[in-house]
Amino acid sequence: MNKKILFSISLVLIMLFLAACGSDQGSDSSDDELNLYTSRHYDIDDELYQQFEEETGIKVNVIEGSADELIERMNREGEQTADLFYTADAGRLHRAKEQGLLQSVESNVLDENIPEKLRDADNEWFGLTKRARVIVYHKDRVDPSELSTYEDLTDSKWEDRILIRSSENIYNQSLVASFIELHGRDEAKAWAEGVVNNMARDPQGGDRDQAKGVAAGEGDIAVMNTYYLGGMLNSADEEEVKVAEQLGVFFPNQDTTGTHVNISGIGVTKHAQNKDNAIKLIEFLSSDEVQEQFASANYEYPVNPNVKPAETLKQWGDFKEQDLNLSILGENNAEAVKIFNEVNWK
Ligand code: FE
Repeated sequence: MNKKILFSISLVLIMLFLAACGSDQGSDSSDDELNLYTSRHYDIDDELYQQFEEETGIKVNVIEGSADELIERMNREGEQTADLFYTADAGRLHRAKEQGLLQSVESNVLDENIPEKLRDADNEWFGLTKRARVIVYHKDRVDPSELSTYEDLTDSKWEDRILIRSSENIYNQSLVASFIELHGRDEAKAWAEGVVNNMARDPQGGDRDQAKGVAAGEGDIAVMNTYYLGGMLNSADEEEVKVAEQLGVFFPNQDTTGTHVNISGIGVTKHAQNKDNAIKLIEFLSSDEVQEQFASANYEYPVNPNVKPAETLKQWGDFKEQDLNLSILGENNAEAVKIFNEVNWK
């Protein structure tokens, strides 16, 4: 064989090899896997995907990123994107829905396991875990009888005493979005303005940092999500435990509109190539057994009404929730962001 022929054969072989590789990334998706985009980064999630694979033989390929990065990525990838999008906050899930990135899912299992108000009206996303945005207070400096409602945080008795994170954060955006729905725009704006007036400092850090600030005496009360405090109370870091033990939990608005709740949730993407597998994973994550594991591992509340929360959360007691369909939080998000800008909430 002369060199020219040998070269040609090699070239053909290389091209065949490249074509084969290319088709792997194409639309022929394997029966026994699914691709998941998630902005969550908890060990328990990986354990559950592993468990799902053992039970069903379906492998979950996980890609992590921030919610906004993943939304951008789904937009860019079009038809060649992941099967599921999993993130915290109904506001963010709504954002993905609005951009046409999700699709409606029919499942009796999900209808049964997940209360209607914790899923999208068109079943484009489903809440999997629930959290409350509560007031925490320093046990030595605040008597819980002084606390009552979110609205009361605008009272002058809280001047220079409130710690709460930045308005760029979706959790605060969703909180104000809920007030827009319950009380109208004007009252929601007056609330935001009143809280800005009573802040002990310019917003900085995450929810845990507000708790630390209260323990350090920078403020007396803070607004934060329950799972952060649960995590701190049960932390391996002694300092975090010390901080959390100085704080009490207060569920606001128990005699009125209820405490603000939000979810971590998941949706099947518009272009999912493994739709059936994707629905199976959501059903698995919403099941009684798995919900129980979520609850105890991460100090979130189960969405499945058959399941009791973890011990730490049980000790805080039952509470009345805002009676809103969480889709509202996404629908009112833009207006909430406007309000924050108008009142100069940093
Ligand atoms: Fe969080």
